[in-house]
Amino acid sequence: MIYFFDIDDTLVLWDDDATAIHPMGDGARGWKWNQPLVDFIINVGHTFVLWSGGGKDYARTWRDRLISDYPELEADIRRLGHMALDLDPRIAIDGDICVDDQAEFRGVNSPATWLTPEDFIATI
Ligand SMILES: [Mg+2]
Repeated sequence: MIYFFDIDDTLVLWDDDATAIHPMGDGARGWKWNQPLVDFIINVGHTFVLWSGGGKDYARTWRDRLISDYPELEADIRRLGHMALDLDPRIAIDGDICVDDQAEFRGVNSPATWLTPEDFIATI
């Protein structure tokens, strides 16, 4: 089983409440880690994938920031994002968990389990 974490408004919480979503931080003034998710990554020691509709380079930027803040995570985040994660059913497979603030839209064509950050945090 692999955990896939979206970045914007999932692993990274943008500080502007004026809009519901912030693709690549659009419209936001600042950000913070979604600490319960970071704590989960640290404590579970599983394989994680960070992904973003912003693409692989954007996902890599946030992976590097996460590892800069939490160097112990370097071995656990082994792969980077795929901008079509929700469109290609071969990537996140049955049994995988995808955490995404837009889970209700992205999970439609995917065999994985898709949860919003709030719903996922409620399970941990
Ligand atoms: Mg998002």
